Amino acid sequence: MAQFGRQIVKMDVDELINLLNKALADEWLAYYQYWIGAKVVKGPMKDAVISELNLHATEELAHAQLLATRIIQLGGTPVLSPEEWMKITNCGYDAPVNPYVEEVLNQNIKGEQCAIKTYNNLLDITREKDPVTYNIILQIISDEVEHEEDLSSLKEDIELMLTRGK
Ligand code: FE
Ligand code: FE
Ligand code: MG
Repeated sequence: MAQFGRQIVKMDVDELINLLNKALADEWLAYYQYWIGAKVVKGPMKDAVISELNLHATEELAHAQLLATRIIQLGGTPVLSPEEWMKITNCGYDAPVNPYVEEVLNQNIKGEQCAIKTYNNLLDITREKDPVTYNIILQIISDEVEHEEDLSSLKEDIELMLTRGK
C-alpha cells in the first residue's frame, strides 16, 4: 500500500529512515547510560544526581518511542537488534566505569552535546523536506538542550559546594 504520508516527503525516504534509525540507536544507548549511571553513581549530591539521571533515562526512552513510531509511519523498520546499536550509533556509549558524580555527569554532558549536534543536523535536513519529522526532531532537541543544561547546572552546584570557603 502506497502511503500518502510517505509520498509527501520531499527527500530520499530510505536515507531519512536510515538517519532516524541511527538516532534511535543513540537513544537506547543514552537510556541505558543514564539508567545504569543512576545505579552506580557515588559522591556529593548523589540523591539529586540520581533523580536527574533517572528522569533523563525516561525521557530518552520517550525519544526512542517517537523515532520508532516515525520510522514505521515512513514504511521503515526500527532497528531490531541491540547488537546493531553500537554499529550504527552517532554518539556511542560511555560506560560509567568511574562512578564518581562529576565523571558520570561529564560523560552524560558529552552525550547530550553529541545528541544536540545530531538532531541539529536532522533539523537542517528535514526543515524544507519533511515537516512532520522536523516537528518530532524539534521536540526531541528541545529536551536534549534542557538535559545538557540540567547536568551542567548540577555539576556547577557540586563544584561550588566542594570549593566553599576556599
Ligand atoms: Fe534523547
Ligand atoms: Fe538527552
Ligand atoms: Mg532534566
